[in-house]
Amino acid sequence: MDFFDLKTQHQKIRKEIDEAVKKVLDSGSFINGKEVGELEKEISEFCGAAHAIGLNSGTDALFLSLKALGIREGDEVITSPFTFIATAEAISNLGARPIFVDIEPDTFNIDASKIEAKITKRTKAILPVHIFGQMADMDAINSIAQKHKLFVVEDAAQALGAEYKNKKAGSAGDLGCFSFFPSKNLGALGDGGMIITSNGELAERIRILKNHGSSLSQKYLNLFLGINSRLDTLQAAILKIKLKYLPDLNLKRAEIAGYYNKKLKNLRFCKIPAQMPDRTHIFHQYTLRLEDREKITPYLREKQVPFMIYYPLPLHLQPALQYLGYKKGDFPEAERASNDVISLPIYPELKKDDQNYIIDVFTNARK
Ligand SMILES: *Cc1c(COP(=O)(O)O)cnc(C)c1O
Repeated sequence: MDFFDLKTQHQKIRKEIDEAVKKVLDSGSFINGKEVGELEKEISEFCGAAHAIGLNSGTDALFLSLKALGIREGDEVITSPFTFIATAEAISNLGARPIFVDIEPDTFNIDASKIEAKITKRTKAILPVHIFGQMADMDAINSIAQKHKLFVVEDAAQALGAEYKNKKAGSAGDLGCFSFFPSKNLGALGDGGMIITSNGELAERIRILKNHGSSLSQKYLNLFLGINSRLDTLQAAILKIKLKYLPDLNLKRAEIAGYYNKKLKNLRFCKIPAQMPDRTHIFHQYTLRLEDREKITPYLREKQVPFMIYYPLPLHLQPALQYLGYKKGDFPEAERASNDVISLPIYPELKKDDQNYIIDVFTNARK
């Protein structure tokens, strides 16, 4: 058993993928081919946003969202310390400063009640991360943003298809960022990313920025300094196939999570993932909190139950971000989560036998 298994998923749709690859190969249109525009339209409709822009990665989606908002040196962006490095990296690489706010201990998302205390004259945006597939408290975040005239950029890399009060992840703020990294719920066969927005002006600026700042109407006229970040036609063609199955695959993940929950909820040494009643969780990860994690992981290893620790070191303690001046103890909930969490295998193709094996081993891990 593996922590995740893309082979089985791809075997099931292998014929469709082969045909799509052949079509792109025959068309010779590898950059900006028609599949890119088609996927953008499908994702924008799926998420309920007016515009979508295909990009090279989720990291670029974050970087270009902030750049399109004019965020630069001297600005501050409020975000979570309990996420993948890309979130803060995008802020730092623009010369702006990531300002961390601690997380909620149950959802692992940014604690909206602690945001306002961190707002200064330099604050330009709030960047919530919908961690593990469940959205942050967007009503609370949006109302703070409105009051202080801040932008909201959603890091929805782990949450494509998740909902908060019937709003899809990525469509609840000004801009939403997705990643098609192979292990994400919608994964390409390589890198890929996307921004969605309902703001036409921002969408146009991102289209220009992602292509060297080139004017959309005149070739070799460069309006600003941008970057090269495109979604390959080949990846778009493959993602179009996989997108059709995404709602079912997300439901399948939730079903497995429900089964784990039922079997693990009464174990005294672990806490099952919190699910907020106004949200749907798409379980990019199934993440438990453990008492004495280091006493449990050797047993799981011995019994060959794969697991991952997302994330073992919160961002404010990362060597790369030491220049920000944070120290141990600054975000106790994020630090506690880093010490307690464990993610178990959860992918739509995970067999019932394997689920039962994981549950059995896990249940016996502390007897
Ligand atoms: C995967 C991920 C990213 C980065 O996406 P890439 O496509 O790998 O660049 C950013 N933020 C979060 C929360 C992620 O999980």
